[in-house]
Amino acid sequence: KSGFISIIGRPNVGKSTFLNRVIGQKIAIMSDKPQTTRNKVQGVLTLNDSQMIFIDTPGIHKPKHKLGDFMMKVATNTLKEVDLILFMINATEGYGRGDEFIIEKLKNVSTPVFLVVNKIDAVHPDELLPLIERYQSLYPFASVVPISALEGNNVETLLDQIKEHL
Ligand code: GDP
Ligand code: MG
Repeated sequence: KSGFISIIGRPNVGKSTFLNRVIGQKIAIMSDKPQTTRNKVQGVLTLNDSQMIFIDTPGIHKPKHKLGDFMMKVATNTLKEVDLILFMINATEGYGRGDEFIIEKLKNVSTPVFLVVNKIDAVHPDELLPLIERYQSLYPFASVVPISALEGNNVETLLDQIKEHL
């Protein structure tokens, strides 16, 4: 099994921390290569029975000017072309405008989306369920996976679920 995956989410939710944990040094190697295509490969995770190709999605944020509009179109097209989208949120922060904007964009694509609730090491477990329910009321996520990219909690479970969707 092999597939393309995009990780989206507000700044500082932990996207790079997650990629570094699952791919490690390969990211740095990939990003040294000049990229001419619009879909930039961030890293490739090769397991014995599957391969996950992570694709960068620059510009998936609220546009401030015309160039932003163009970047937004590129980002939306990328989301249509990948096999799976990981929408990462920060469990220590509530729902915010940045998330609202991204969820509106997700409604224009048919690609399955996982809600990845990161930084669970930093919140009380009781806070997780209401947060997850809030997001689930806004979008029909194919799966919801709480993780700690920093400490590694549940990351293997997430990779297993990704594999099942490829
Ligand atoms: P990005 O902007 O989405 O790529 O976020 P980064 O990966 O750069 O992470 C932003 C900050 O959040 C950094 O200080 C990370 O160390 C921290 N961080 C990332 N994942 C976790 C996590 O699972 N738990 C905690 N407590 N902090 C995290
Ligand atoms: Mg980053």
